[in-house]
Amino acid sequence: MRVNAGEDGMSLYYSDGKQKIGPISKAELQNLIKAKKVNARTLIWQPGMDGWQELRRFARPKSQAAPVAAVPARTSQPQQTCVECGRPFAVTDMIPFRDSWVCAGCKPAFVQKMKEGVSVGGQMLYAGFWIRFAALLIDGLILGAINLMLHIPLALIAPTEESDPTAFLVYMPLMMLLQLAIPAAFDIFFVGKYGATPGKMACRLKIVESEGGKVTYARAIGRHFAKYISMITLYIGFLMAAFDAQKRSLHDRICDTRVIRRK
Ligand SMILES: [Zn+2]
Repeated sequence: MRVNAGEDGMSLYYSDGKQKIGPISKAELQNLIKAKKVNARTLIWQPGMDGWQELRRFARPKSQAAPVAAVPARTSQPQQTCVECGRPFAVTDMIPFRDSWVCAGCKPAFVQKMKEGVSVGGQMLYAGFWIRFAALLIDGLILGAINLMLHIPLALIAPTEESDPTAFLVYMPLMMLLQLAIPAAFDIFFVGKYGATPGKMACRLKIVESEGGKVTYARAIGRHFAKYISMITLYIGFLMAAFDAQKRSLHDRICDTRVIRRK
């Protein structure tokens, strides 16, 4: 039995024969019907009604309140759900897009979104190899500049093997550690906080989780170090993005991330 109470929320009252009970919501009334706590003759009232009405009359669907299904029921045609509006349509009235369908009504807006590069219908537009390469170059330039700014003063105060052998022994590993720590801090901070390094931001790219969600700091850390695996494979791990349907690099596969194009 369908109850078309009109408003949602706690607005319904029913009578158990002795007293008025409520307010209850439409959903609660449905549950009472299912549980057979109320029947077709139970009296129902809600604000705005002149008087109590039997449930069987109250529940009679109003024609204008019918769901906007747009599709005639019991059609033998195969149906699909529009990725834009989520309503079902016969496939003959829809256009296919990758492995989804779009209804005729949503098509113009959908095409517009496609042109603008928005991820459409829950589908993400994966960023290809070259745009990601460009982003990496930009990040490389930024990191190079940071490196230079740090190393000029550090080189000036650096001990040499001759002047202070002990200090030199400490200094060298510290410098090597710094070489790893700076890119790590840069990568993890920007990816964890913004989902993109400055290079990726400049190229309008974003790193997301496979379902499109935000990358956490933990995943950003994992992804940074997974890049080392992409590097030690002679950068083949990076190149893999060029040949993957979802443009995943090796580190994207390891961390279940995707690089997508923003609007
Ligand atoms: Zn639609």
